[in-house]
Amino acid sequence: MRLFTLGPVEMFPEVTDKTIPYFRTPEFSAIMLDTDNLLKRFAGASDSAKTIYLTASGTAAMEAAVTNCFDETDRLLVINGGTFGQRFADICRIHKIPHIELNLPYGETLEARHFAPFFDENITGVLVNLHETSVGQLYDIGIIADFCRQKGACLVSDAIGTFLADEYDMAKYGINVTIISSQKGLCIEPGLSIVILDEKTVQERVGKHKTDNLYFDFNSYIKNFERGQTPYTPAVGICLDLNASLHMIDRRGLELHLAAVAETARDFREKTKNLPVTLPKFPLSNAMTPIQFAAPIAYEVFELLKNDYDIFVNPTGGVRHDTVLRIAHIGNLTREDNTYLADCMKTAIEKLTKR
Ligand SMILES: *Cc1c(COP(=O)(O)O)cnc(C)c1O
Repeated sequence: MRLFTLGPVEMFPEVTDKTIPYFRTPEFSAIMLDTDNLLKRFAGASDSAKTIYLTASGTAAMEAAVTNCFDETDRLLVINGGTFGQRFADICRIHKIPHIELNLPYGETLEARHFAPFFDENITGVLVNLHETSVGQLYDIGIIADFCRQKGACLVSDAIGTFLADEYDMAKYGINVTIISSQKGLCIEPGLSIVILDEKTVQERVGKHKTDNLYFDFNSYIKNFERGQTPYTPAVGICLDLNASLHMIDRRGLELHLAAVAETARDFREKTKNLPVTLPKFPLSNAMTPIQFAAPIAYEVFELLKNDYDIFVNPTGGVRHDTVLRIAHIGNLTREDNTYLADCMKTAIEKLTKR
């Protein structure tokens, strides 16, 4: 391939060994349409669903989904059980979309009783981060879906932390909008985020809605994707990796893929039993295990793992900065990696507690 195009351009080998093709071609369109079929199948979306491919991080997709589906005539319920729930609330506030919050205290499991106060409220949509990754709780989609069905509310699910790690099914639960992002369960580079809209939401909301935004106007994405294209230059390289990643999962089979992630998570949780840490009591996603330290050494463990072993885990922001670390199980990780991590953590914790 030799590119004489004005972007992507022919890149220098000193900079990268990647080749990014020109994308306004039937060949690239065919790849995107193929991606779309696989993605919808894996998400349990129907063929009539529309997918928006945004070159942006997950938060942009959250904001774009909210502003394309709702306006000042709506009244939303935001499930706020951590920083990602708070982000949805902030998006509503900034865009002046009326909303109320279901505030879930840390450590509490989301249950049907939490929805009781909201049955008498006028609610037209629910925003939820199904796996609230800031704390690690995987909410019970059945409870949320029940509430939305009874209220006739549009269910927007930020599935960024759960898609391709746990079972996910838009049709089964009547999920109207799904948000996903490249760097999580899809196991590829950050930079691409995706919104899947069911037919009802396209017809009753997005299609009738006028956004005061050019780049994030979903209607132009829907129109362009009829030919497998995006209105603006997409993250072409990430789009190609996305196609490869979905095919890798498809070759193995989605169920086996999910089972493998579940097994990696189970194996790690088993290995934490030899460490002076505890796991939260609320339901966890296969994508991640939050580990709680009795002593306030979590961040120091993070630094030791990074500096001594070149191992990276997720520190936690806010009030649990010194007591909680979060360990991911998605991506190219094995039981051997778990053993190595658990061993290194053991050494690190001993070093820090013997001082
Ligand atoms: C990772 C993640 C996001 C995306 O955040 P960005 O940094 O904007 O990509 C959004 N929601 C949840 C639940 C996440 O886990």
